[in-house]
Amino acid sequence: MSDEIPVLVGTLAFGLGINKAAVRAVIHLALPKSIEQFYQEAGRAGRDGLPADCVLLWRKRDVGLLAHFIGQLSDQREVNRAWDRYNTIKRFVESANCRHRQICQHFGENPKWKSCDACDVCGSSIAWLAAERAPLETRRGYYYSERIEKFFFEYVREQLIHRYGRNTVEEGGLKVYTTIDLNMQRQARKAIAEVLDEPEDPASAIVTLNPENGDIEAMAESESYEKSQYNLAADGHRQPGSTFKAIDLADALSRGIDPYTTYYFSHTLEPGWLAISTSSFTPLPRFRLQSCA
Ligand SMILES: [Zn+2]
Repeated sequence: MSDEIPVLVGTLAFGLGINKAAVRAVIHLALPKSIEQFYQEAGRAGRDGLPADCVLLWRKRDVGLLAHFIGQLSDQREVNRAWDRYNTIKRFVESANCRHRQICQHFGENPKWKSCDACDVCGSSIAWLAAERAPLETRRGYYYSERIEKFFFEYVREQLIHRYGRNTVEEGGLKVYTTIDLNMQRQARKAIAEVLDEPEDPASAIVTLNPENGDIEAMAESESYEKSQYNLAADGHRQPGSTFKAIDLADALSRGIDPYTTYYFSHTLEPGWLAISTSSFTPLPRFRLQSCA
């Protein structure tokens, strides 16, 4: 059970300038400052021509740290250059385009191929990394690891940025507790799918609020996040309109009014019957914040 293999770990301080041809893996544990730095370091792997792996592990917090270091610079031209490098590396890691292709393009080349078949974007995975990661997967009991509610997540992210600022949110480490109820979410999707099931049917969205506390319990829509990132439920700004008809009708029935009778009855509401300011109805997700150690 004691399979021991010698591992030589080199850090930046150790000196990457040492030319060792048989490096089998370069692992970054944080976001490099620039593509140039990443390429120079990752390029240490496999100089003997044999297969080698490069892994870049990073957290949102790294981005905040880079921004912090840029804030320490005094020369304005250097600051501008640092922000350029920062934006480029951030785009590189967040992009859904082939990593090799991005690196080539960064250095002014325009490869004819579209896919390298060797990076994560192109669907390649590293066997030893996958094997290491496998046992961890089973420990994820948390249910959002199986159900990704992208529209709602994106909505909460926007609300967090609005409330706490982009820097705080991008630094990461916030624990966000949401109120979404996955069962309600399923019911909402089912309701949409059952009624609007033809291709020419309009797009639709359902938001369910708990009237007692304003918790959002469901936020679902007919479009998939992959197809359209427009959040119809949160950004549509439609009047509730017919939503109230069902409540009115139910109330009328409970008072013994025949649903087949017609009333023409309209007058301004008496003071005391007026709705409170609509802004208090703006759905806001409830969340509690807590810093991760
Ligand atoms: Zn690729």
